[in-house]
Amino acid sequence: MALNIVVIGAGAAGLKAARDLARKGATVTVLEARNRVGGRAWTDTSLGTPVDLGCRWLHGVISKDLTNPRSNPWARIARQLGTEAYEEPEIENHLFHGTTEGEMEMLWNVYDELERSIVEAGEQGQDRAASEVVPLPGARPVALVARTMLGPLEESTELDNFSTLDKARVSDEGSNFLWSKGYGELIKSYGKRVCEGYDKLKIHFSHVVKRILWDGPTVRVKVEVEGKDVLFEADAVVVTVPTACINDEDGLKFEPPLPTQTRTALTNLPLGHYLKVALKFKDKLMEQPRNNCTLYQSGGDTPFRKFTLNLDGSTIAVAYAGGQRAAELAMHPPEDVARLALEALELTLGDKLGDKLADPPNQLVYNWTTDPFSRGAYSYMRPGGGDARKVLATPIDGRLYFAGEACWVTAYGTAHGAYWSGKQAALNVLRDWSSKLTSTQ
Ligand SMILES: Cc1cc2nc3c(=O)[nH]c(=O)nc-3n(C[C@H](O)[C@H](O)[C@H](O)COP(=O)(O)OP(=O)(O)OC[C@H]3O[C@@H](n4cnc5c(N)ncnc54)[C@H](O)[C@@H]3O)c2cc1C
Repeated sequence: MALNIVVIGAGAAGLKAARDLARKGATVTVLEARNRVGGRAWTDTSLGTPVDLGCRWLHGVISKDLTNPRSNPWARIARQLGTEAYEEPEIENHLFHGTTEGEMEMLWNVYDELERSIVEAGEQGQDRAASEVVPLPGARPVALVARTMLGPLEESTELDNFSTLDKARVSDEGSNFLWSKGYGELIKSYGKRVCEGYDKLKIHFSHVVKRILWDGPTVRVKVEVEGKDVLFEADAVVVTVPTACINDEDGLKFEPPLPTQTRTALTNLPLGHYLKVALKFKDKLMEQPRNNCTLYQSGGDTPFRKFTLNLDGSTIAVAYAGGQRAAELAMHPPEDVARLALEALELTLGDKLGDKLADPPNQLVYNWTTDPFSRGAYSYMRPGGGDARKVLATPIDGRLYFAGEACWVTAYGTAHGAYWSGKQAALNVLRDWSSKLTSTQ
């Protein structure tokens, strides 16, 4: 009998794990809840320009040498697909306090100061809430924006919630790249190659895994397909679903329950919240702005404090909200969320913009928090979480292998971290099951 592996989830991590396992001769069954690959990588083209509703930036690309193992692998894959990723040109930034323009330099200084205190605390081994180590905000409006950038807009949660230790472990090597058709499309193209490239690899879409029974001679995976239960069996299972999707109430369950240390790791790695609203206008906003011009707003009581104008040369503006405020927006219908984003942009540009919207379709709102197959944006580590990411990535009894962005210490919350975690999970399976693999090759 061939080595038989089930991979749960066809996002960046699951696709990479599945491909590496199939390449080495395993029979691989990928079970994916949605009717598409990519997971939290998804490019929407309904506004006429690719808009990444999930990941957009290829972080950490070592431009001099894409083959460097520390460089974001998606840039190398883009090259293999025939369209190079490119370094993001320098961005024009503006800071606004209401409609008054402030000094960007001051914002960067405060941002650097806060970030430095978080990273230094982490480098000293302190596993504390970031809010405990940053200087008190005072009344400076720039401090509000800097804190929003460092917390909700980067970590997808507030400074009170994430650990200094986790943040300090992130690699800052390399630069940000973009792919002209969108990061989601890049991962989708890779997924297509994976699906078509291996006889022994099969992806089942619209297969929602409900339960994993892992105490028998094989692992049994219970799946709901169109309201019916279907059972899959495997030697081992690679689980790449977002951490928030694993829960005993209405999520993916394990029988017997996972070991205590794995459950603790999962509790310490919840998902934060982050959403984007894309608004398409008839013309470009602002005079002579560069593409992807970025605005920050300190004024008003708005969840949207950051905007990209003229997305990749189009007339689309993107508004960003993160953390608790983004979670609250999940309770509102998309048209209300789009209106709030428009109002925040109006506050910033001091202009009524409703009449300037392009003819419909002119807006896109995607909230990953209400999506049952993500239930949030990406993982952060709670203060005191210690080595939660490593613990989660540790194989269990040669049967269960976790992968996904939450498992990658130096690049959590990214698509390349997810890819590397999938690669590592496949290596672990191949190591643990080498005898079965060799005997069948
Ligand atoms: C708004 C936003 C912006 C982001 N921006 C960036 C960025 O600019 N750069 C960057 O690198 N990263 C960014 N990220 C993070 C990046 O998108 C993710 O880290 C990465 O895509 C995660 O990949 P993954 O394989 O770990 O998980 P996923 O992509 O979530 O894949 C998991 C898969 O499991 C499936 N699944 C879930 N439950 C089940 C079930 N019960 N049964 C079967 N299948 C199931 C899901 O449908 C999904 O396809 C962003 C994320 C968000 C939400």
